[in-house]
Amino acid sequence: MITTELKLEYYQALIHKKSEYEGVFYVGVKTTGVFCRPTCPARKPKFENCEFYDTAKQALLASFRPCQRCRPLSHPNHVSELVQLLVNAVEENPEQRWTENDFRKLSVDAATARRQFKKRFGMTFVEYARARRMGIAMKQIKAGNAVIEAQLTAGYESSSGFRDAFSRIMGAAPTLLGDHHILKASWLDTQLGPMIAIADEEALYLLEFVDRRGLEREVERLRLRTKSAIIPGHTAPIISIQSELEDYFNGKRFEFKTPLYLLGSSFQKEVWEQLKKIPPGQTSTYADVAAAIGRPSAYRAAAQANGANQLAIVIPCHRVINSNGEFGGYGGGLSRKRWLLQHEKEGL
Ligand SMILES: [Zn+2]
Repeated sequence: MITTELKLEYYQALIHKKSEYEGVFYVGVKTTGVFCRPTCPARKPKFENCEFYDTAKQALLASFRPCQRCRPLSHPNHVSELVQLLVNAVEENPEQRWTENDFRKLSVDAATARRQFKKRFGMTFVEYARARRMGIAMKQIKAGNAVIEAQLTAGYESSSGFRDAFSRIMGAAPTLLGDHHILKASWLDTQLGPMIAIADEEALYLLEFVDRRGLEREVERLRLRTKSAIIPGHTAPIISIQSELEDYFNGKRFEFKTPLYLLGSSFQKEVWEQLKKIPPGQTSTYADVAAAIGRPSAYRAAAQANGANQLAIVIPCHRVINSNGEFGGYGGGLSRKRWLLQHEKEGL
């Protein structure tokens, strides 16, 4: 989490182009939609138009595109031609899903691309392209209804780029929805970073940090299993969870009343119901959870069900740790897990 204090420090570093902050943070500029490294030669934005990120991936997920001048995805003095070629290819057609064949067309060896990207950015090229696509979809969700309505009024054919980018991830374009079940998605800003909430008029289906690994596939699964299309907007459960989350982060509440829709096998649902019984600020182990549902030997499956939870915080999978006292994993990142547990302990 980047505190206000740190933001002010980063802003000073940005104004003075301090090279010692290279790689420490990236800045997204709301007015232009690009993200930069601290030493970018371009004119500096106002503080209120800056969003700061620890990693380039987070900036991509927040729907910023890499700046053409400072090229935040390359090392300052060393731009790999291969990396630059691929970054440019993504920008030409950000909605594309990459296959081995696409690499061949560009005369690029997929394994080399994977290695070089991983080394530079800590993610593979496919992950990079996915983060960029997800970022585009997220941008629509962040903007909410207004964008969809504007696109509809303007006529869909004139904006096929928008339709493609969004619908690849979120489902059919609004004009093609017909009688489909509709889920709505909203962007929720929290102290631990932005989250996406997906719900219909009855219940909340998904609540995740937007930078959670595998989120795109998770959303796709949700869409297919519920035979739904997802469009930006609010529903009663979204409005409810937004307010409950605010209370949660302010330490005013640790129990949630927003109705949930649990999408999983009967075993997974049993595990998730069990997780809800772990009191705030306390931890349980995967073995405890398995035992509590009468399947003591199924602790591995319990751990898997825990990881498959799609309702972060509300179904408190962050309260489950390893039997040896180690923290175990967390889809939203370990630092968030630690923060949530500490926050709940302090709030009691
Ligand atoms: Zn720049």
